[in-house]
Amino acid sequence: MSFSRALQKTVSKRVLKTLVVLVVFLPLWTYMQASLTVNRSLVFIRSADDGNVRADDNVATESADAVRCSHNCGHSGTTESGSITSSSEPLSRQFSTPAVTEEVLRRHRDDVMPFCENPTRSSAPRWPSKEPVTAQELAERFPMMQLGGHYSPSNCTPREKLAILIPYRNRSVHLHTLLPNLIPMLIKQNADFTIFVVEQAMPTRFNKGVLFNAGFLEALKLGDFDCFILHDVDMIPLNDANTYQCRSDGPVHFMAGVNKFHYGLSYSWLLGGVLGFTKDQYKAVNGFSNLYFGWGAEDDDMFLRLKKKRMDYHRKGKDVGLYDMIRHSRDKGWEPINSRFSITHFSTRRIDDDGLNTAVYSRTSLRQLPLYTWIRVFVDMKQVYEKAPEYMKDVIEKASRENAALLSPGSVEDH
Ligand code: UDP
Ligand code: MN
Repeated sequence: MSFSRALQKTVSKRVLKTLVVLVVFLPLWTYMQASLTVNRSLVFIRSADDGNVRADDNVATESADAVRCSHNCGHSGTTESGSITSSSEPLSRQFSTPAVTEEVLRRHRDDVMPFCENPTRSSAPRWPSKEPVTAQELAERFPMMQLGGHYSPSNCTPREKLAILIPYRNRSVHLHTLLPNLIPMLIKQNADFTIFVVEQAMPTRFNKGVLFNAGFLEALKLGDFDCFILHDVDMIPLNDANTYQCRSDGPVHFMAGVNKFHYGLSYSWLLGGVLGFTKDQYKAVNGFSNLYFGWGAEDDDMFLRLKKKRMDYHRKGKDVGLYDMIRHSRDKGWEPINSRFSITHFSTRRIDDDGLNTAVYSRTSLRQLPLYTWIRVFVDMKQVYEKAPEYMKDVIEKASRENAALLSPGSVEDH
């Protein structure tokens, strides 16, 4: 064989090899890389106006990060950047509407009225009024509201009864800014709702988890609610089409973005702001942990609870789920403590031993005001901590010391 033929043969063999690599191995390699990336991130599914976020088994590292940064982690992952992939759940389950329960059917039969439909449609966000409105003016503006902050449409049968639970202390201006925005939105949505303001008495450090649990238990003593919307007092919804409705297939996170984070979220598994549970879902996760006094981590703890209970949650899309948070400084009695991370460390281990079934508080007031039912509770930190599991003894002692230091005389005043 001449030198030139041998060269030709070698070259064509090389070309053939390169082609094989390009055609077969390269796509295979790219595919494997892509699926690895997908597995590492939160599995994220989105429909036209609703998302479904499912924490997969590999999320432990992310949730550990969530626990470490707790809220202010910069603008890392947002809802919009989630990986779109398939889920093991059938589509019918992911996007089903709330279940029509026996109770709803009974109401329907008794009423002989059509079910309420929500006439609001996705539209451009409106500019909310940020002017607080006095209690008297509010009562005049909303004469259709019944005592205790209740409203029910008169010409249709609601599919569910909503309890709006607002954890509260010393935020009168925020409350009087939220109500004139929230009430008309819910009326437009044809919702049957009752607003509960759950206030924590001074001087104990603020504990949002206990307030949610107390609100849930106290509301159920007053009415048979199907859906509980846990609502920060300073979150103003910007779109009337953000339907406050629970879903039978998982809790709903109504907030897709907030002005504070340039209308995104600070991290993808953030659950703060406005969150909705059916009665059964809230019971299934045993409500919120009671052990977080001070700012932060109680919502990350809830994320871990949902993950542990294998409960998918749904996040609204940005077409409807935007909020303006009224700007504010950190309240006294609500400063964060470092031990919150150590408390979160035991989050999933103690789900069934810390929450709704162990909430301790005493209800010191209950009044039905024109626009809301006002529930005031006193929370005794020592009593709450005594209920913590034995294996958390050291962590609780440390948290207790940190809280006590922040409560040194003069650091918190009653108002
Ligand atoms: N909150 C309150 N008084 C307080 C602390 C907190 O009413 O002293 C309630 C209020 O509903 C508020 C929510 O707890 O919206 C969350 O607190 P904050 O707004 O400080 O948290 P952020 O999300 O702004 O960090
Ligand atoms: Mn806030």
